[in-house]
Amino acid sequence: MIFDVMTLFPEMITDSLNHSIMKRALENDIFTVNTINPRDFTLDKHKKVDDTPYGGGAGMVLMVQPYVDAYNSIKKFPNSVTVMLSPQGEPLCDETVNELANYDQIILMCGHYEGFDERIREIIKPREISIGDFVLTGGELPALCIIDAVSRKLDGTLGKIESADEDSFSNGLIEYPQYTKPREYMGYKVPEVLLNGNHKEINEFRLQLSIERTKLKRPDLYKKWISNTCDSNHCNAQNPKHL
Ligand code: SAM
Repeated sequence: MIFDVMTLFPEMITDSLNHSIMKRALENDIFTVNTINPRDFTLDKHKKVDDTPYGGGAGMVLMVQPYVDAYNSIKKFPNSVTVMLSPQGEPLCDETVNELANYDQIILMCGHYEGFDERIREIIKPREISIGDFVLTGGELPALCIIDAVSRKLDGTLGKIESADEDSFSNGLIEYPQYTKPREYMGYKVPEVLLNGNHKEINEFRLQLSIERTKLKRPDLYKKWISNTCDSNHCNAQNPKHL
């Protein structure tokens, strides 16, 4: 997997990936991250990449020429997707992350200031993705969210001790509560069932708590999970223990 990140602030990307699991995965060539700076492509003698909006208004808008030329300089793979980070985009979720992980190349277009000249959208026609209904100063943090979330799905990024299989959303539910040593802290105890070594019971207990938590904390997900479960041949949702 190659991530090509178009950004005016490449260090925001490279510095952030220089830690922990992402650093190890990069060192092991599980994925590669390149940065492309539109400022290197501007034809403006003062190296300008932004200008005031036509029609007036606050802030600066990213100019079309440096961005499009920078985009055209990127070698495109056959199995490639271009994503513009934008508050106007489709909301990012685990399903989208799984889908993105099937590409060989993801080109990530980070905006800044007031965002993109509309003609950048018209010319490049990217898929637009938002990381939530709020506005950040730039697309670098959203791009990092995508790099981190997608690369966790790639073979070799997570070691044996870190697994994505049981994370929240992987089975349509949020994760069950986790505990580690000590068994008791200031009167707060680890549930007995987790200490008895009976994996069938442990799995049932965890599933039960996952379901209860999802129902409580994410009723929207719970509704979806129930309807998917009832659509399948084995309708676990009919089991009163799960409701
Ligand atoms: N004026 C734009 C608007 O109101 O939609 C916001 C521009 S924002 C200050 C600058 C850049 O940050 C955007 O072009 C985008 O790349 C990025 N950005 C901000 N919030 C985002 C979000 N929730 N999801 C994805 N990208 C975001």
